[in-house]
Amino acid sequence: MVLKNIIFDWSGTLVNDLPPVMGATNFTLRKLGKKELSLDEFRADFCLPFTDFYEKMAPGCDLNQLEVWFHEAYIPLENTVHALDHAEDFLQFVKSNQKRTFLFSSMQRQHYESLLERIGFDQYLDHPYLGIVDKKERIGELILEHQILPEETLFIGDMVHDIETAHHGGLHSCAVLTGYTRLKELKDSEPELIVEDLGVLRELLTAADWSWNTVLERNSKPK
Ligand SMILES: [Mg+2]
Repeated sequence: MVLKNIIFDWSGTLVNDLPPVMGATNFTLRKLGKKELSLDEFRADFCLPFTDFYEKMAPGCDLNQLEVWFHEAYIPLENTVHALDHAEDFLQFVKSNQKRTFLFSSMQRQHYESLLERIGFDQYLDHPYLGIVDKKERIGELILEHQILPEETLFIGDMVHDIETAHHGGLHSCAVLTGYTRLKELKDSEPELIVEDLGVLRELLTAADWSWNTVLERNSKPK
C-alpha cells in the first residue's frame, strides 16, 4: 500500500520547542505551588492531553487559568523555538511527491502563527489542525472531513499520545526520537516503526518507493 497522506505532529516532530514548553510548564507548576520538573522528569511525566498532565500534577486545577499562565511564560521564550534538522527537507520531499499533508497539534493557533515568519512550514502543510487537546477524540473528524483512507495514511509523532491516536484512527504510525518522549515509553506504545529522525524516514520511504508495507518488512526487528 502506497502512502498518500502524512499527518504530522508539530512539537518534537517538526520543531524543537522543548526548552520554552518546559520553561512555561515549570512556570505554571510554580504558580500552582508545585515543584518544578527537571528535564528527565519532564520527559518522563509530561503527556498529552495536557489536561491529563495537570490533573495528575495538581488535581482540580483551573484549566483556563493554566492556559493564561502558560501563555504568559511561553511568549517571551518563543524565539528559542527552531526547526528540527531534516524537517524542512522531509516536508519538501513529501510535497514534491504530491502527498497530502496535515498538521495535527495541540499547539494554540496564535503560537503556531507567530512562528511562521521564521519557520515557514505552513507552505508544506495543506491542512493545519491546531489547538487539539485530545488528538484521539478528534482524529475521526480529520479522517471524515478529508475522506482519507487510513491504510494510505501515516501519522508521525514524538509522543505516546500521537501513537495512540494513530492506533485509534487505524492509521499507520511512526515515532521519531527528536522530541519529548524517551525510547522506552515510545516503544511501549507500539508504533509500527521508530526512527531516529525524519532524515532516516526519508531514506526508508525513498528506498521503498512509499510502500509502507515494504518499509516495515525491511525494518521489522526480531521480537
Ligand atoms: Mg509532539
